[in-house]
Amino acid sequence: MTQPALLLSNQSLQAYNTFGIDVNSALLAEFQTVDGLRELIHRYGNPPELLLGGGSNVLLRAPIEGLTCINRIGGIHIRERQGDSVLVEVGGGVNWHQFVLWALEQGFGGVENLALIPGTVGAAPVQNIGAYGVELADVFDHLEALEWQTDIIHEMSAADCRFGYRDSLFKQPGQQHRFCITKVFLWLRQANYHLNTSYGAIRQYLGTTPPSPTAIARAVIAIRQSKLPDWRQFGNAGSFFKNPIVSAEQHDTLKATDPALPAYPQPDGTYKLAAGYLIDRCGWKGFREGAIGCYAQQALVIVNFGGATGESILAFSHKVAASVADRYGVQLEREVRILPI
Ligand code: NAP
Repeated sequence: MTQPALLLSNQSLQAYNTFGIDVNSALLAEFQTVDGLRELIHRYGNPPELLLGGGSNVLLRAPIEGLTCINRIGGIHIRERQGDSVLVEVGGGVNWHQFVLWALEQGFGGVENLALIPGTVGAAPVQNIGAYGVELADVFDHLEALEWQTDIIHEMSAADCRFGYRDSLFKQPGQQHRFCITKVFLWLRQANYHLNTSYGAIRQYLGTTPPSPTAIARAVIAIRQSKLPDWRQFGNAGSFFKNPIVSAEQHDTLKATDPALPAYPQPDGTYKLAAGYLIDRCGWKGFREGAIGCYAQQALVIVNFGGATGESILAFSHKVAASVADRYGVQLEREVRILPI
């Protein structure tokens, strides 16, 4: 039987967000099951003001006046096998990287390119996490989500989730605080893997090693560790901005003035630019202003070196985006979510 969740009052959320922002929540509770969550809401009388998984893609800009809930719903179960494919059910509170390691131990492929992404499985659909040419949507079957207002558990398909580039229904205005993702169902492969080594960094790391889920995961882990700061040491939320997509016309103009500009053609004729490169060229890579800076190995990551507030990081990010807009005429869009809304 599950223990009733403990409601703690006036708690710092510093340990619950990877930016390490020290704001308080009037009430804080963790839940391990859907029933535990329902019981919490019943006792509190309202949906929580803030729901966090690993707190790895959020910037907390103000204290939380009400209840903050941390999703700790666990469990990984194989639900179905069809030929080479396996349908796996994962609790929303499971740590994403632990899930990737579990898949590799079983000999399952599909999520190896997504190794070492911080956060929880329940948060993964929110921004359709992606890395090295693979995104959650590629392995996604459906999810279960509790709707706060109706207390109904919805089963939602990929189409329902409206996945886009680091985007989903759950980030859209009016939808942002509507659901709690309790379970995610993913299709992995136990043979005849669909391996993706399209990114040069992975091919370089592999060299002559034959690609396999484990070999790719090792490459991804090594590359990420060499380029990205460990949030336990330097608070951060990974890429602060999305890579911008521009028209072919704008791409041609930019490329004429900056021939080194990395640009990746998209199926619809547009081009994806590397936000990190644009920020770097504007002089921000390794630049530090008090407690805040752009990481020296990857300019796309804004770092809290200790003691920064959410507001001051947001103000810093506005300056970064403004200089990219000035120099390149490209508007950077935030990947990180600013909370509370
Ligand atoms: P990188 O190698 O410095 O390349 C910069 C950008 O160019 C990447 O973000 C990537 O876009 C794009 N790119 C590179 N090779 C590509 C290819 N062969 N085809 C299409 N696009 C290509 O990138 P990085 O910063 O080290 O990141 C490597 C991967 O990890 C990327 O997929 C990135 O998104 C992911 N990542 C995600 C986060 C996060 O917080 N969400 C943080 C760090 C890294 P895409 O981003 O569209 O892949």
